[in-house]
Amino acid sequence: MTDVIVVGGGPAGLTAGLYLARAGRSVLVLEESTPGGQINFSPLVENYPGLPRVAGSELGDTLAQQAQDLGAQLEYESVTGVTPLEDGFQVDTDCGSHTCKGLILATGVRHRPLGLPGEEDLVGQGISYCAVCDGPFCKGKPVAVVGGGDTALQDALFLAQLCPQVTLIHRRDQFRGAQRLVDQVLACPNIQCLMDSTVEALDQADGQLTGIQVKNKVTGEITPLAVDNLFVAVGQQPQNQLFADLVELDEAGYIRSSDCRTSRPGVYAAGDCRTKSVRQLTTAVSDGTIAALLFLEET
Ligand SMILES: Cc1cc2nc3c(=O)[nH]c(=O)nc-3n(C[C@H](O)[C@H](O)[C@H](O)COP(=O)(O)OP(=O)(O)OC[C@H]3O[C@@H](n4cnc5c(N)ncnc54)[C@H](O)[C@@H]3O)c2cc1C
Repeated sequence: MTDVIVVGGGPAGLTAGLYLARAGRSVLVLEESTPGGQINFSPLVENYPGLPRVAGSELGDTLAQQAQDLGAQLEYESVTGVTPLEDGFQVDTDCGSHTCKGLILATGVRHRPLGLPGEEDLVGQGISYCAVCDGPFCKGKPVAVVGGGDTALQDALFLAQLCPQVTLIHRRDQFRGAQRLVDQVLACPNIQCLMDSTVEALDQADGQLTGIQVKNKVTGEITPLAVDNLFVAVGQQPQNQLFADLVELDEAGYIRSSDCRTSRPGVYAAGDCRTKSVRQLTTAVSDGTIAALLFLEET
C-alpha cells in the first residue's frame, strides 16, 4: 500500500509529491495528461517568484523532474473512481487500481466551452481552447479570441505575433484581466477589440470553421467575421464529479475545504480544484505544500 496517492500532476499535485517524497513517504502521482497541468498552456509566466520569465511548459517539466528526482513516482493514468477502505482508499484508474493510506486531490480545472451548436464537432477544425498549442497552425491567418480575463488577453498577445489580424471579443465593456496585459493588448496594432460583444454562431463548411457571427449587445447588430480559428478563453470548470460521494463539493463543483482539509479525514485537496479565492501558480504550490504537511502531521 502506497502512503499517499496524489490525483493530478499539476503544480499543486507535483509540489505535494515533492514534499512527501522528501519526507520519506511513498507517493504515487497519477496524471492523465501532461505533467504541469494548465501552465503548459501559458507561453510565458512572469509572476512566479524567482523565475522572472519562464515558458509554462518548461516550468511544468522542471517541476515534474524535480518531484521524481526526490523520489515521487509519476504514472500516466486517469483516475476513474475512489473507494474508501477500512485502512485507506482504493483508487481505480483506466489502467488498473492502487491502494493508499491517504489521498491528495489536485485535479485542477478545465476550459469552459461556449456551448454553441457545432462547437464540439469543430474542436481541432477551427475551434481551440489553447493558443499556445494550436496558435502556430494559424500562422499568417486571421483568428479571433473570445474572453476578457488574463488568459484571453495573453492568448491575443501570443497570437498577434503569428497572425496578421486578431479579433478579441468580450461581452463586457471592460476587460477583467490584469491592467498590464490590457495595456499591451490596446497598444498592439494588429489586435482589434470588440467590446460588449458575444459570439452568437459558428459558420462552417465541410466540417471546418470558416467564420463566426458576432453580436453587439448594445445595438443588437449581428456581423459576420471570417476567421480561420476561434480561440475560446471564457473560464474554467472543476472536474471533481467522480469524487462527489467521497468529499463534499460546492454548488460549482469545487471541493469544499478548510485550509486543504476536505470533509473526509485522510483526503486533502490542493490547488485550483478546491474552494479558494485565488487560483494561481503560487497558491497551487502553497496548497501542495500544506496538503503534504497536513498528511504528515495528521496520519
Ligand atoms: C493559459 C493559462 C495561463 C496561465 N498563466 C498563469 C500565470 O502566468 N501565472 C499564474 O500564477 N497562473 C497562471 N495560470 C493558472 C495556473 O496554471 C493554475 O492556477 C495552476 O496550474 C493550478 O495548478 P493545479 O495543480 O491546481 O491544477 P492544474 O494545473 O489544472 O493541474 C491539474 C492536473 O490534474 C490532472 N487531472 C485532472 N483530473 C484527473 C484525473 N481524473 N486523473 C488523473 N489526472 C487528472 C490534469 O490533467 C492536470 O494536469 C494560467 C492558466 C492558464 C490556463
